Amino acid sequence: MNAKLAQKKNEDKFYKKGDFWIRICLSILFLSVFFIVFFWCNGQLYFTKVNYVDDYRNFPFQVHIIDVEQGDSFLVKFPNNQVMLIDCGTQDEGENVVRYVKAFFKNEGLNKIDYLLLTHQDADHVGGATKVLSQINVENLIRPKVVTESESDLYPYYQVSQSQTYDTVINLAYQNECNIIFGERGLEYDFDGAVVEFLSPSQNYYSASNDYSAVIMITCLTKKFLFMGDATKQIEQALIAEYGDYLKADVLKVGHHGSSTSSSLEFLQIVQPEYAIISAREQSDFPSAQVSNNLNSLNIDILSTANLNNFAITIYNNQIVYAKAIFPSSELALLISIIIIALILTWGIKIKDNTNKNKQK
Ligand SMILES: [Zn+2]
Repeated sequence: MNAKLAQKKNEDKFYKKGDFWIRICLSILFLSVFFIVFFWCNGQLYFTKVNYVDDYRNFPFQVHIIDVEQGDSFLVKFPNNQVMLIDCGTQDEGENVVRYVKAFFKNEGLNKIDYLLLTHQDADHVGGATKVLSQINVENLIRPKVVTESESDLYPYYQVSQSQTYDTVINLAYQNECNIIFGERGLEYDFDGAVVEFLSPSQNYYSASNDYSAVIMITCLTKKFLFMGDATKQIEQALIAEYGDYLKADVLKVGHHGSSTSSSLEFLQIVQPEYAIISAREQSDFPSAQVSNNLNSLNIDILSTANLNNFAITIYNNQIVYAKAIFPSSELALLISIIIIALILTWGIKIKDNTNKNKQK
């Protein structure tokens, strides 16, 4: 009996010891797999096919619509690998914009914003710029013709800002030694296959802050993208008078998030886009019923951040195509962790089972 008991004790020790080392090995395996998956996925952007294209990596021309709830933020990659960020959403959304831009950089092997365009001084466009300027290298800042108090002596013919947020952004740009440029009609950039033209503003003063908006036309191959900022119907009228049919575009970033202050039927008839981009919060009043009717009556497809969240547009086979952009890192890492934990637990039970069976023998 004593000999049998001693043998059992030895067996118990042996299995306990085995159990311990198996658990250690499994834990190491689990942690390694988790970290490999996490670091491999983390910060990468993936695209789910909406029409035609599901991998945007290395496309020479890309327009990314970053979901910043109620605000605007668009990232454009040009064929010469230069990058323009148009607006940064509100202060609260700044971190999301930084995350998106960094993920985009990781995908594309890029590391700086060549041009940060702040269309106008409103907080839903410039608020996030403090986060962007403090975390990402920005070479040139294109700003509205609105100056801070301390700059007013230098630019006596420009409107003085009433916004603390805007002043902070401009001061930060000076601190970071960005090259600072005023965005106005006539300004033009050639990105080796894509051209950016500034169609507005043309004046130094406007009664509505939204009318300071930079309106830009981006032309790549045969396709045209018109970005309206928050420009109102008054600016649309001025653009029609100045440019007429030249305003015809394939994609229109609708003015003022789809509010009824912009997007007159006359203007939409001239632009005649295939797609209208609307950047607005889910369950908001944007686009307004009036703008919605105008767009629908002209069979213009609405692409809104309210439904698509982050999405990207490119030109493929001479067609405008778009895809939803997603960050799977956290979800995928969590799913894999759960599967591995479940496997370890099952194996643990099996080992315990075998130990018990051995004990019974
Ligand atoms: Zn706005």
